[in-house]
Amino acid sequence: MNKLRINAIYLATEGEGLLIGRVQIFVRFQGCLLGCKNCDSKDTWNVSNGSFMSEDEVIAAIEAKWPSPNVPIKTVSITGGDPLNLQNIEAVRSLVVRLKASGYTLSLEAAGDVIDQDIFQRLDFINFDFKTPSSGVQSDLEKIIFMQQNFTGKFQVKSVVEDKNDFDYIWQNYQKFLARLFKIDFIWVITPAYNLKEKFPLTRFVEIINWNQIAGGPFRVIGQQHKWIFGPDKKLV
Ligand code: SF4
Repeated sequence: MNKLRINAIYLATEGEGLLIGRVQIFVRFQGCLLGCKNCDSKDTWNVSNGSFMSEDEVIAAIEAKWPSPNVPIKTVSITGGDPLNLQNIEAVRSLVVRLKASGYTLSLEAAGDVIDQDIFQRLDFINFDFKTPSSGVQSDLEKIIFMQQNFTGKFQVKSVVEDKNDFDYIWQNYQKFLARLFKIDFIWVITPAYNLKEKFPLTRFVEIINWNQIAGGPFRVIGQQHKWIFGPDKKLV
């Protein structure tokens, strides 16, 4: 059986996106090769770091995060790092099968470069990133088109927006998407960037809200509330 490369397993409340406010157990995988410039989890990049755990150990660690045996939390977010990179994907597939068989509700944070139909079909919700220029990583609009054609109703697209250039980029891609499929059946979330060591970027939030209003509201602007509460550098919250 595959060993899982685990950065951390912890209980917290989802701080961003459409599932904001949901209590869940995060299984954070180690390893990411994308190298986003604005990544707030660079400690997850190196595949040699973290702990190698068996699937049984991961399940036990999840259950150890329940407040008590009588208060099971059967909602898990699989995140990273990049849980779908080559080093992690088979271990993730096996874990997803096992957790679903045990009645868990599962979401997964996908970096937007890999679509694994077998895994995605088993999940309850997928966050699918569409990267912006400030990240230095290019996403493929064809993958968003594929997601709408195959996974409508169970995914969001999420873009971290740092500045007007980022906003204009996703707005152009939104329009390209509409020109191809004529309608958008998912919610495209803008996460205003709140970078490590930064003070709360109020001006950026206000500007993004205004740009979105002027564009007619194509996006849902949702901040990262865990950073408002705990600060941008706090981990495992
Ligand atoms: S995909 Fe996620 S974990 Fe990987 S570099 Fe980008 S932001 Fe960081």
